[in-house]
Amino acid sequence: SYDELKKCTNSFSESNEIGSGGYGKVYRGMLSDGQVVAIKRAQQGSMQGGLEFKTEIELLSRVHHKNLVGLVGFCFEQGEQMLVYEFMANGTLRESLSGRSGIHLDWKRRLRIALGSARGLAYLHELANPPIIHRDVKSTNILLDENLTAKVADFGLSKLVSDSSKGHVSTQVKGTLGYLDPEYYMTQQLTEKSDVYSFGVVMLELITAKQPIEKGKYVVREARMAMDNNDEEHYGLREMMDPSIRNNALIGFRKFLELAMQCVEESAADRPTMSEVVKAIETLLQNDG
Ligand code: ADP
Repeated sequence: SYDELKKCTNSFSESNEIGSGGYGKVYRGMLSDGQVVAIKRAQQGSMQGGLEFKTEIELLSRVHHKNLVGLVGFCFEQGEQMLVYEFMANGTLRESLSGRSGIHLDWKRRLRIALGSARGLAYLHELANPPIIHRDVKSTNILLDENLTAKVADFGLSKLVSDSSKGHVSTQVKGTLGYLDPEYYMTQQLTEKSDVYSFGVVMLELITAKQPIEKGKYVVREARMAMDNNDEEHYGLREMMDPSIRNNALIGFRKFLELAMQCVEESAADRPTMSEVVKAIETLLQNDG
């Protein structure tokens, strides 16, 4: 509960910094009951303060799902805002895909990661009360626990980020370049389908291991070109694949790619819902004889 976490600053040391992001620094810490946690300490001015903040955080701490990084608590001390999350031992999906974490994700594991994170998002869209649009779905916001189960992090936070925060697109539109739904960008009409677009980009990352914008190339556009130029041998498609999975027998690769391309359709109306994405990935995994 909130009260138990009043002594937040006692539960971590500055030397246990594990990363820093759009909101400030993240530390590994331990609560008095022994639970290992990740403590996010907001940089001064990076988050909106006040009552709205508290209300929002209280709401988020009641959202629980196997594929969402749980908010264990929060505290406000000496004008500092700290958010306490369950600790995810295997870091971000991006770290694994870039080979930095030393974990090799084979194709089947990637499908499971896609399925888990899709379930987390479908839960936010359809079962959380009130429904939550993530607004910043990306591979650095998908974390892996000790069993490599994928959990979506930072849901509900985009709303609270001040415009000046680094890494975020300013003014009304919030999100990260490369993942941003073009329709939302044009109309500033936020719907669940913006998350679907960003998730489609993450699916392309699972295939290619590339970041959405790499060496000045936009991976979504490259994927569209590869689909259009696809020949009998699927040469263009194989070229797209992360070399470290290219030689495996890839369960449902083609269908997974098609699903990703539906998620990144220009028009939001043409994209599936997150629960349709969940069903499609479940089918792929079931068909693995
Ligand atoms: P961003 O704003 O880029 O999403 P965050 O502030 O959410 O970054 O996180 C920064 C880094 O801290 C992440 O890249 C990750 O390595 C680490 N991290 C964040 N949350 C957790 C967690 N719950 N468990 C373990 N590591 C975490």
